[in-house]
Amino acid sequence: MSARKSQESLILNCARTSYRSARGAYRSVRSVGNRFLNLIDFPIVILVYHRVMELAPDPEMIAVSPENFRRHMDYVKGKYHVLRFEDEWTNLKEPAVVVTFDDGYADNVLEALPILEEMEVPATFFVSTGHIGTGQEFWWHRLEGMLLQDGEFPSLFKLEDSRYGRIWNAASLEQRKMLYASLNRLMQKVDPDRREKWLDQLGKWTNGAHGDRDRHRSMTQEELKSLAASPWATIGAHTVTHSALSALDEKQQRREIYSSKRDLENLIGKEVKTFSYPFGRKQDYSRISVRLCREAGFIRAASNFPGQVHRWTDPFELPRHLVRNWNVDTFVAELRSFWTR
Ligand SMILES: [Zn+2]
Repeated sequence: MSARKSQESLILNCARTSYRSARGAYRSVRSVGNRFLNLIDFPIVILVYHRVMELAPDPEMIAVSPENFRRHMDYVKGKYHVLRFEDEWTNLKEPAVVVTFDDGYADNVLEALPILEEMEVPATFFVSTGHIGTGQEFWWHRLEGMLLQDGEFPSLFKLEDSRYGRIWNAASLEQRKMLYASLNRLMQKVDPDRREKWLDQLGKWTNGAHGDRDRHRSMTQEELKSLAASPWATIGAHTVTHSALSALDEKQQRREIYSSKRDLENLIGKEVKTFSYPFGRKQDYSRISVRLCREAGFIRAASNFPGQVHRWTDPFELPRHLVRNWNVDTFVAELRSFWTR
């Protein structure tokens, strides 16, 4: 390495270290701030799960094993006051936890619900309506099913698109993992029509060697109805096509938000009062989405970034903590950290 190169590398390392310590300092200050706030107002931590089943591979890391889930619920039930997402959250006498699920996978009914009923823990299930009863996988599973497998693949994949068109090396599994990560990121930014066109292109490229797998299916109408009938479950909306609302114009957003509410209400025969934004990070929805959710008659909407809920938190951007397939010790340690993050 030349003297100049080593000097550049030293500067870069110093910059990285300063950034890391600044970030660490910010976290410490925020943590102290949150501890103080918790003294004047009991906080609520909202957990978000997606799937409860033994699942491998799980590239999205969204499945929690039934055994781990049972232990999570056992701990939460024994340690905290458990509220419902749609409850009145006033006059708390102690910190509280809320349990939510996103997407509407069949395993929510088959695996999670019996555990919740046995433990007597209430949960709210935000369900995307477009997949109910179709047996069709969500687009991220279709992507994974086509790309993350061994076999003979063409050496290049060319995405035909006026704005996002690009070519990737795709012969090896390692290369297809990178292609999967790139397309997954891009597909979160586009509307459902564009995404379908890309999935069609991939389907032709892989010779259609992928079918819908039962383990990734959404719940059927009957399963949704039985979930809604449980005293421990409440149904919330999660759009129709599970697209990032910020990628859609107002008319498309309105359709996603209003139709999902109406279709769920028609199916379960109950009012659907709550909503969660697909993907749920700040960049995945907009001020228009928040306004439309208010206008549609929802009382609360859940986001997907960490934070605690206080009296002053915006009820239409409620932070949630994503739960991974942690054993109970890790879950307890993570949950403790959630009270200050
Ligand atoms: Zn979702």
